[in-house]
Amino acid sequence: MRIHHLSCGTMCPFGGRLWDGFSPVLGPATLVCHCLLIETEAGLVLVDTGFGLADVNNPRRLSAFFRFANRIRLREEDTARRQIEARGFAAKDVRHIIMTHLDFNHAGGIEDFPEATVHVLDAELAAARKRDGALNRRRYLPMQWDGPVVWQPYALDGERWFGFRCVRDLVGLPPDILIVPLAGHTPGHCGIAARTPEGWLLHAGDAYFFRGEMDLDEYHCTPMLRFYQRMMAADNAMRLNNQARLMQLKQTHGRAVRLFCAHDAKELDMFPPLPAQTAPVPVPRTEVPAQPSPAQPVRVRPRPSRVRERKGSAGDTISGTRAANKVTSGPVSEDR
Ligand SMILES: [Zn+2]
Repeated sequence: MRIHHLSCGTMCPFGGRLWDGFSPVLGPATLVCHCLLIETEAGLVLVDTGFGLADVNNPRRLSAFFRFANRIRLREEDTARRQIEARGFAAKDVRHIIMTHLDFNHAGGIEDFPEATVHVLDAELAAARKRDGALNRRRYLPMQWDGPVVWQPYALDGERWFGFRCVRDLVGLPPDILIVPLAGHTPGHCGIAARTPEGWLLHAGDAYFFRGEMDLDEYHCTPMLRFYQRMMAADNAMRLNNQARLMQLKQTHGRAVRLFCAHDAKELDMFPPLPAQTAPVPVPRTEVPAQPSPAQPVRVRPRPSRVRERKGSAGDTISGTRAANKVTSGPVSEDR
């Protein structure tokens, strides 16, 4: 399993280090959109998509508030689609997209990969479709994902990973990739864990924003990111609780799990580009299974206008039987 770390969009709000902790204070900050491109035997898997080609071609589809407040820099070469093509792959090789959540700066590239099944927690999909309140109408932009998208929503099923609840056995994906619910930033926000030969990686999405928030010696966060996270939190108490649990995870299992978040440029720098591909990536010729496995007994029926039924697709199967998306606090354990 080869994992590429990409930034699929940049936000450059004024205030420099008041946001990112390192840029000149009178200039723009650099906030990345850290996405993963994972080469697996099930084809290419994307974790988050940043901004997409349609955002580049029509920036006005993004909320004017966030476009100006975040000073979003949109460049075609930064999109996941173009970066994947630059590595010698095609858009159709991307068979799966796993979303930490559906905010505008994570979901913009979903429709650039029409062959992909999009895995997401059902609580997030419900919140994004509902869009209640002024903040949700600006953060969730249906035009980014209301085309012919094949959704694969999940409820929680009681599985555990290092003491966190998690969703295992994602449909069509290797068992080394898990969804770890980390609600708070949004109702169905989650981290994505991937097991590598060197240990686990956890893409924590927007569960935290600044590397100092996971500093075991001295917690610190820049003032603007502190404010921004509070402003964007759907449930701030749950956000802080999950952030504390991530810190605990790092404290107790920092050697086994490597953590990073979506927007910290210095964290992205810790993962240098992979060397060029020496052999073609195995891309399966078959679709994902047509029938749910016994591990996914529950079926939900998404709104038909929003879901493209693809022949041979697992479509609307969900894993597990518990609809709860709340993450309960508890000790970080050895379960994994
Ligand atoms: Zn974000």
